[in-house]
Amino acid sequence: MKPISSKAFKIAPSPTLAISARAKEMKNQGINVIGFGAGQPDFNTPNHIREAAKKAIDEGFTGYTPAAGIVELKEAVCEKFKKENNLDFKPSQVIISNGAKHSLYNTFQALLDPGDEVIIPVPYWVSYPQLVEMAGGTPVFVETEEEHKFKITPQQLKKVINEKTKALIINSPNNPTGTVYTKKDLEDIAEIAVSNDLYIISDEIYEKLLYDEDTHFSIAQIDEEVKRRTIIINGVSKAYAMTGWRIGYAAGEEKIIKVMSNIQSHATSNPNSIAQKAAVAALLGAQKPVEDMVNEFSKRRDYMVNKINDIEGLSCINPKGAFYVFVNISKIKGKTVSDKKLSTSDDIANVLLDDFKVAVIPGSAFGMDNYIRLSYAVSMDDIQLGLDRIQRFVSSII
Ligand SMILES: *Cc1c(COP(=O)(O)O)cnc(C)c1O
Repeated sequence: MKPISSKAFKIAPSPTLAISARAKEMKNQGINVIGFGAGQPDFNTPNHIREAAKKAIDEGFTGYTPAAGIVELKEAVCEKFKKENNLDFKPSQVIISNGAKHSLYNTFQALLDPGDEVIIPVPYWVSYPQLVEMAGGTPVFVETEEEHKFKITPQQLKKVINEKTKALIINSPNNPTGTVYTKKDLEDIAEIAVSNDLYIISDEIYEKLLYDEDTHFSIAQIDEEVKRRTIIINGVSKAYAMTGWRIGYAAGEEKIIKVMSNIQSHATSNPNSIAQKAAVAALLGAQKPVEDMVNEFSKRRDYMVNKINDIEGLSCINPKGAFYVFVNISKIKGKTVSDKKLSTSDDIANVLLDDFKVAVIPGSAFGMDNYIRLSYAVSMDDIQLGLDRIQRFVSSII
């Protein structure tokens, strides 16, 4: 038989899903694994949102909707932008997709020609490089530094820009580091983007999961010129514990949104009709469940960060948003434990899983091998138990 697409063959499976799958398999075998791999809130979708979905089913809201989403939800998104971010968007500047990931996919498909470069700060969310490549673009990686709180600096940015550079990705609050860019950070970046005619893809999916800052600041809030070149990516997955419902959205210039909508109309048609009604309830309904979740995450974060920094051989910065701690493992890399050489973050993640029954995501998944990512979308009891196991692992080496 003729070979399948070499382009498709290059696309690796999502590494965060792979380790979670192995941890799940062990759990199914009855092994007591503590999973720090979670990329989603460990809460159920709030009740009023579930009720809105049931109502949509009972009322027969079960047919196709417009491919780019129902007007009611687009209007709810616009209302959210106005109220929470002081940003004016019209429904024609919004597309509803099958998750924020799908909005990102559409964005790159709409913006990139073969060879176009997209600047991706490292560590990055696992799918960015693959999404850029699937659209024929070239990811250009810029390694950030822990000393700079894993933020890309204006100097670093300027260094990699050339005539092929088309766009830049900013993800704040950040997965995997929890870093939040300040208004000043974003102004400096925006200035460079404007003077070099770059698009800015601003992934704001963790906007509501903030622990120290009072409010979220979107780079599009700087001025009209910056807003014009920004595509904001957001969704209900993380803030409303709705990962399985698959509703995300993008907002930007009407011209770009229209192209994205055309692409989506052929690839998937509309996102799930029932989930769209649920998302309206999420955006316009009571926000108390989000506050409760943030309060719980905040307690877990404090415990986790303190405990990790108490373990000799490990360290981490204090994440200001999202629900991850990016743990520096450079002091244990290169050591040997029961005949296993710990050369990479993958080696460390494997030993942790096999010998200590703790699942973590190796930093290699995010392009930084001196780290592992621990999620605190995990119960406090499990966090305590799991960190005790990690402490035993580290003290067996150091
Ligand atoms: C979870 C996540 C997404 C995707 O969210 P979905 O709406 O579930 O597709 C996008 N960006 C980042 C940084 C994420 O962590």
